[in-house]
Amino acid sequence: MSDTAAGTVAGSSGRILVAEDSLVIRTVVSEQLMDAGYDVVQAIDGEAALAQCAATRPDAILLDIEMPGLDGHQVLARLKQDEGLRDIPVVFLTGRTGTDEMVAGLREGAHDYLRKPFEPAELLARIGGAVRIKRLQDELRERNEELKYLSETDGLTGATNRRHIDGVLDRFSGTSRRHQEPYALVMFDIDHFKSVNDTEGHPGGDQVLRELVVRLRSIARDDDVVGRWGGEEFVIIAPRTTIEGAAVLAERARLVVAERSFAIGDHDIAVTVSAGCASGIGEYPASLVRRADQALYESKLQGRNRVTCSSPHDVIGHSSPQMMQ
Ligand code: GH3
Ligand code: MG
Ligand code: MG
Ligand code: MG
Repeated sequence: MSDTAAGTVAGSSGRILVAEDSLVIRTVVSEQLMDAGYDVVQAIDGEAALAQCAATRPDAILLDIEMPGLDGHQVLARLKQDEGLRDIPVVFLTGRTGTDEMVAGLREGAHDYLRKPFEPAELLARIGGAVRIKRLQDELRERNEELKYLSETDGLTGATNRRHIDGVLDRFSGTSRRHQEPYALVMFDIDHFKSVNDTEGHPGGDQVLRELVVRLRSIARDDDVVGRWGGEEFVIIAPRTTIEGAAVLAERARLVVAERSFAIGDHDIAVTVSAGCASGIGEYPASLVRRADQALYESKLQGRNRVTCSSPHDVIGHSSPQMMQ
């Protein structure tokens, strides 16, 4: 993309909303922008400017201050209140004597201003600057989202990683306490996973871990969080879920693993998981984790490929898990 005032490569310059009530200025400005390779949308007053903004998501707005109905200041104020629109750079079009207005506009959050009358080169330079800012903001937002995803995600399976699980548990526990509604934790451990690694090799074992997460996700609700606790141990954290609900969820998970074999290369292997569930109202994560873990241990003791629920009486003291199967 060129940095000169003459504009950028045709077709890739960006979309500009020209909001100006004067037909002459609107037409001239639009032609100059289109000649420089911009897509242009127009609005003849403030209301139309807001509607066009929402509908077309321009990369920058050239906004006349004096317009019938909503003026430029009011349009800018509305844009700033809208989370989806507030980052679109606004270049104010001010009259010859508009220094006060220009200063007020910048204070209100305009990116830049352009004084009438202006040369095409100045128009393109200011709009070019606004569009560059928009591009940088968009890139930054995308990078931040990417970094957030990477910092919260287990690289092998795509499940929520351990660090983020701790944050989710804290959040769910707080919500549970405030609303006095239960939240649940189901912990899973793959049965005899060492022998999967021994017979299929580590890459084969990795494939099982990835497929397991796909299956756990397939039976979880949208607001449940599927996470990798570590190694071959996984969790589902479920908001607004009683111990009965958690037991159903865990049993669905056990079945979706046990009922269909896992493909590794050209052959299939049988995989099973053991599960432990706990649910509490406002219970501290450490306590819920301890109870789910004890219930899981009980599932292992009782022969694996089964679900055990921790009794709510065990919140503070020792656990006496109850078998489901
Ligand atoms: P149990 O039924 O008692 O759980 O038996 P197990 O063989 O699953 O025993 P354990 O939980 O102690 O074994 C966990 C194994 O998981 C050992 C370790 O090598 C393997 N493992 C941990 N992380 C990974 C991984 O990222 N990839 C692979 N392929 N294996 C892993
Ligand atoms: Mg006007
Ligand atoms: Mg284990
Ligand atoms: Mg295991």
